[in-house]
Amino acid sequence: MKWAFVGASNIASEWMIGAVRALGDEVVAVVSGSAERAQAFASQHRIRHALTDIRALAGLGLDAVYVSCTNDQHEAAVLQAAAMGCHVLCEKPLALDLAAARRMVDACAAAGVVMGTNHHLRHNSAHRQMRGVLRQQGLGRLVAARISHSVFLRAQLQGWRIDRPQAGGGVVLDIAVHNADSLAFLLGEYPVEVMAMTQASGMGQGVEDNAMSLWQFASGLCAFTHQGFNTPHASNRLEILGDRASLEARGVLNQAPGGELVWRRSDGDLSLRLDHDNLYLRGLREMHQAIAGQPHDMATGEAGLKSLAVALAVLESARTGRRVAVDYA
Ligand code: NDP
Repeated sequence: MKWAFVGASNIASEWMIGAVRALGDEVVAVVSGSAERAQAFASQHRIRHALTDIRALAGLGLDAVYVSCTNDQHEAAVLQAAAMGCHVLCEKPLALDLAAARRMVDACAAAGVVMGTNHHLRHNSAHRQMRGVLRQQGLGRLVAARISHSVFLRAQLQGWRIDRPQAGGGVVLDIAVHNADSLAFLLGEYPVEVMAMTQASGMGQGVEDNAMSLWQFASGLCAFTHQGFNTPHASNRLEILGDRASLEARGVLNQAPGGELVWRRSDGDLSLRLDHDNLYLRGLREMHQAIAGQPHDMATGEAGLKSLAVALAVLESARTGRRVAVDYA
């Protein structure tokens, strides 16, 4: 497949160009808001076309577009890609509000193209194995989930994430969406209600840099999620707790593969072996399956809309101090 990348971004440089090429696909164009950045990105990554106008992509014979500009600009790029008849992989969060996400999903559906959301975590080995255990009822009745997903944002990534709410900054839009997708992938459901508190403890300037929330699911399960930008020595952890056993994944909520997974049972702890597949490459493989009309585990556009709905409910709860029903539009 021939891809265009909209956004001369860090995630594109660090992970997505390599993943696209590892799959045998080609990146033929990059679009940036600045001619200099487009040119620099194209030279660094040996990309033929360096563009500043997304409309110039028409006529390049593209199959797909990967969108990784700032969150406020995702919608325009996705609508343009759909209008060109290209499949789309859009970064999370899809947009800043649900109406925009709905327009994006609907435009792709109307154009008959596949839309994916780049929720990479569901493609890690721990998530896949945990889902296998859950599907065989390996924990008994599910009671709770706990996600500790507070990181330290590298200086290189701080920019718009910590000081531009209008670009979609803030830790909730950045990380809570991943947590919602992880739990939906594992449990097969999204929360119906949330309660949250956020703080701007110094790194966030005009946006929250740390957030804790409780999520209630229709099945009765309750989840605690913690996401942060400003905790340099925090470990990350994902646990699912049942009335007979539990699963604990440590160090798996990252971009790179790794970490460990333990199944705690009455007959002792069992360490489950994890593979070291590249998460983004796996995600792209799933997208290829979706495009071929085959069964897949890609996070769809609809999944991206739902994870955004959860994050927006978290923000509303923190703002109002109230329990908020999640609106899935
Ligand atoms: P970056 O800050 O690296 O890039 C975002 C945009 O900022 C770029 O498209 C670029 O605009 C602009 N930009 C980049 N460098 C500069 C600069 N030196 N000066 C001015 N502007 C600059 O963002 P990320 O790569 O961290 O994130 C991009 C998207 O990907 C976001 O939606 C984010 O949420 C998502 N993301 C997803 C991850 C995942 O694992 N799924 C991980 C990390 C991010 P232009 O294109 O106009 O040049």
